[in-house]
Amino acid sequence: MTYTYTCTNCGEIVEITCSIAEKDEKEKSLVCPSCGGREFVRVFNAFIARKRESGGMVSIGSCACSQRG
Ligand SMILES: [Zn+2]
Repeated sequence: MTYTYTCTNCGEIVEITCSIAEKDEKEKSLVCPSCGGREFVRVFNAFIARKRESGGMVSIGSCACSQRG
């Protein structure tokens, strides 16, 4: 099984692959690779697919004004 989570702090997507029996232990030890946060919300693949579809490439080069910082 693959379980997908999103970091509540920075929105990083983290996937873990394990059995149902291992899931609780994996969840407890989950640390965000991006911000080091430990608060996660379970998400589903459909949600991620939609997120990638709608926002995955939009921010890259589509608007130079966002690059000014
Ligand atoms: Zn994070």
